[in-house]
Amino acid sequence: MVRTRFAPSPTGFLHIGGARTALFAWAYARHHQGSFILRIEDTDVERSTPAAVQAILDGMRWLGLEHDEGPFYQMQRMDRYREVIAQMLAAGTAYHCWCSKEELDAMRAEQEARGLKPRYDGRWRPEPGRVLPAPPAGVQPVVRFRNPIDGATAWNDVVKGPISFDNGELDDLIIARSDGTPTYNFCVVVDDWDMRITHVLRGDDHVNNTPRQINILRALGAPVPEYGHLPMIHGPDGQKLSKRHGAVSVMQYDDDGYLPDAVINYLARLGWSHGDEEVFSREQFVAWFDGQHISRSPSRFDFDKLKWLNNHYLKHTDDAALAQLVLPRLAARGLTPKEGEADLAQACALLKDRAQTLNEMADTLGMFYTEPTISEADRAKHLDAAPPALAPALVDFAGQLAAAPWTKEAIAAAMKAVLASHGLKMPQLAIPVRLKVFGVAHTPSVDAMLAAMPRATVLARLGA
Ligand code: GLU
Repeated sequence: MVRTRFAPSPTGFLHIGGARTALFAWAYARHHQGSFILRIEDTDVERSTPAAVQAILDGMRWLGLEHDEGPFYQMQRMDRYREVIAQMLAAGTAYHCWCSKEELDAMRAEQEARGLKPRYDGRWRPEPGRVLPAPPAGVQPVVRFRNPIDGATAWNDVVKGPISFDNGELDDLIIARSDGTPTYNFCVVVDDWDMRITHVLRGDDHVNNTPRQINILRALGAPVPEYGHLPMIHGPDGQKLSKRHGAVSVMQYDDDGYLPDAVINYLARLGWSHGDEEVFSREQFVAWFDGQHISRSPSRFDFDKLKWLNNHYLKHTDDAALAQLVLPRLAARGLTPKEGEADLAQACALLKDRAQTLNEMADTLGMFYTEPTISEADRAKHLDAAPPALAPALVDFAGQLAAAPWTKEAIAAAMKAVLASHGLKMPQLAIPVRLKVFGVAHTPSVDAMLAAMPRATVLARLGA
């Protein structure tokens, strides 16, 4: 039974890179009919906030990455961590260390002076036959993990292949501070153990933590999960992805008018591939995603490609659903389609091919729901300089529209007839009609646009 987890620290928003990690962990569990667990790593009380927890939950819900268990909060598991620390002290796999800050500073200075890498020298580490000094009075000790000294700790990383660290490189990590609170690496270990995690997929900024976590798991007699470390996401310029490149918070993509399916499809392809497939559903991704073909090098975020995908998903969204999605965005622009105005779903159908985001759609939909204002330039070019035949042609056209069935086909036929009898070419009539009805010179096909507007509005705007 595969069990994966996503374990964000709630210190800001849900980052798009975190979302990609979550997606891979989620898809891996789904692919194997396993379980996906959400764990909130909130032990950094200075930086963790309830708002940030909510941002994670909102982001996960918006992306549709539903968890099977949790959310578990590390702050609610303190008793359990203390219990395991007590067990390790009793078993001798952890020990008290009474070094003061001054002693540790002196240790570091001395090692650096000798050109050595600073590390804890093990002075309170119990060894057979070794007599330790008496603990100083009035000092609260920290608890250190008794890391193995010899050999190496290795794993076959799902993403990066074999990785090995010499145990001699890893010093005896503090697992509980002098006030008794457990430290980060230790909580992760106890959680992964208790939550029976089989596959840890996370960012590769955690590679250096992995040998320490494996050693603690082994000391506890706990099973060691598989690890897969995902390379970072960079901006288009190859630098760490940041706000100056564009949106980094998942919910910003919602605000900016992206569809969750487009973001999911985009993130799935970011650092993973399946042949040359570019456009696929989340079900298809789950069916393909077996942990193979994850890129070992950082990926570059391509905002244009995401926009292209978003346009694809907009085009394939049902018109009524699109109308619901765009409605709040219209409202934010002060527009609420009413009875007797253009049908929103029909209007969406006409504009969705060209829009890259829901916000762009909302902007262009304004032409259906506001009084047209014609720019001076358009008026001069397309109306004032129009041939004399335009005025009678518009009257004729309005007259025919008043009697025609209100369909795209009938409107097209009326237009053709008017062009023929007044000796005008299509743009000579269609552009002035667009300007008068919609306020802009360019729209999707004019017959369909007019058919989406109520007849009375069209006739009034044509001056009939
Ligand atoms: N809380 C860690 C982070 O947000 C993730 C820890 C893990 O996945 O093991 O970077």
